[in-house]
Amino acid sequence: MHRLNSTESPLEAAAGAAGPRATEAFSVLGNETRLAILLALWEAYEPFEAENTVAFAELRKRVGMRDGSQFNYHLTQLVGHFVRHTDDGYELRRAGHKLVQSVIAGAGLDNPELDPTEVDRACPVCGAPTVVTYHDEWLFHVCTECEGRFGNRDQFPEGTLAGVNLNPAVVTDRKPEELLNAAFVRGTWNLQSAVEGVCAECSGPMEGWLHVCDDHGAEGVCPNCDRRYEVMARFRCPVCKASGEYVPSCSWLVMHHPAVIAFYADHGVPLQYDDDSGSFQPRYRDVDPKEDIDFELITTDPPRVRVTFQHEGAELELTLDENVNVIDVSERGRPGVNRLGT
Ligand SMILES: [Zn+2]
Ligand SMILES: [Zn+2]
Ligand SMILES: [Zn+2]
Repeated sequence: MHRLNSTESPLEAAAGAAGPRATEAFSVLGNETRLAILLALWEAYEPFEAENTVAFAELRKRVGMRDGSQFNYHLTQLVGHFVRHTDDGYELRRAGHKLVQSVIAGAGLDNPELDPTEVDRACPVCGAPTVVTYHDEWLFHVCTECEGRFGNRDQFPEGTLAGVNLNPAVVTDRKPEELLNAAFVRGTWNLQSAVEGVCAECSGPMEGWLHVCDDHGAEGVCPNCDRRYEVMARFRCPVCKASGEYVPSCSWLVMHHPAVIAFYADHGVPLQYDDDSGSFQPRYRDVDPKEDIDFELITTDPPRVRVTFQHEGAELELTLDENVNVIDVSERGRPGVNRLGT
């Protein structure tokens, strides 16, 4: 147990694994003038402009501070962590830019809400109509009839099919259908990035693992794990703690695996956007995930998942290990084709 000793600041006590560089960066922010400088540099910044540095005098004017030496002191504190000093003046470093961005997109907008609104998209579990709703920074896609994929834990509404934690910026200028599409785009690409081992938030390394329920109920949403599926793919970034949990049966974990792309290409099946739902989610044309893609937990210790793609009598099998890596690929049913390379 970590105890606060008398020489420690609350920041040092709270930091734990984040370390001294993080506490130093946080402590720099505890002043209104410094926050004003970050905001002023962000206001002055315009993407694609050749020159985005702000000269000292101009920056001081923007912040409205008369005392030059006081201003200089605060500015100097920011240089290194959040601000870059060049021959021409000052500009935001990436961390400074991300900081202002996240405040603007997260807390700097109105707190928008969307009551459950029907969208033109059938429930992938039962086929019933679905709604989209947004409140308290969570966007939910919810079935109006079945239990959905997740139980009623915390703030998840009953019938939740998907829940994505998104900044209020997602609601800006979007109709409910567009909102859902935006959530799917984010979800799909966050997952793709995680599968490739890159955190979509900070570019840190992503850790993946298969999480298996230890006492899974067979029907509907399990009372033990609150999920419909016995095994979920989880990802976590050790640097920034971004995380995501995905239903492996959706197969997006392996949809872009070269073996899957090649398998469908051999059968003349293109990857395209889903015309039926008008959604931005790519899928293989005429492939029905429920009918044509099978998914099975083959061992639990360590967990292994087998995903089987079937098309016109041919079969492609991918095996995922406990860290969500494809460790085996095998193909059957096409004379003369052997993707194992033997
Ligand atoms: Zn349903
Ligand atoms: Zn369970
Ligand atoms: Zn990260």
